[in-house]
Amino acid sequence: MSSEPIASLVVPPELRRTLGVLALALNHTLEEPQVRAMAYTLRDLDVALLSRACAEVAKTALFWPKVAEIREAYVRLERAEAEASADRALAALPPMDPSDWRSWYACHDCQDTSFVLLECNGLVDDDRAARCGRPREHEAHRFAVRCACYLTNPRLRAERARTRVSRP
Ligand SMILES: [Zn+2]
Ligand SMILES: [Zn+2]
Repeated sequence: MSSEPIASLVVPPELRRTLGVLALALNHTLEEPQVRAMAYTLRDLDVALLSRACAEVAKTALFWPKVAEIREAYVRLERAEAEASADRALAALPPMDPSDWRSWYACHDCQDTSFVLLECNGLVDDDRAARCGRPREHEAHRFAVRCACYLTNPRLRAERARTRVSRP
């Protein structure tokens, strides 16, 4: 890795402040090259959440943390946020009415399965592909596509938040 991108990196002021506080708390002499190197290796993360992650690390760390420790704290916070946000969205769903099937699902298209079944007649149209995307004529069949609600459906979001695996 060349030092060029680090030299030209603008360190977000909020992150600079946070690292400064962390250094004070841990009695660590923080030099500018270290600030820049950390900002560079953490540049893919959201600064506000990153600052909270550093504050979490400051509570328990005995020594200046490795970037991996800060990332771990970040992923924990990110997951907690995703769960809380999904819970809020779930709580905001209208109450279920046993006599009205539409109230049973957040999404009527996929009934909260995240997939919708489409029919393909197997004919190749002017775009030179059948509805399912295959380029040659074939037997009619059904196929599943991801539902448009996938990212926003509160039930699917809650499920993802519960089962999500930490990123390294
Ligand atoms: Zn759906
Ligand atoms: Zn097809």
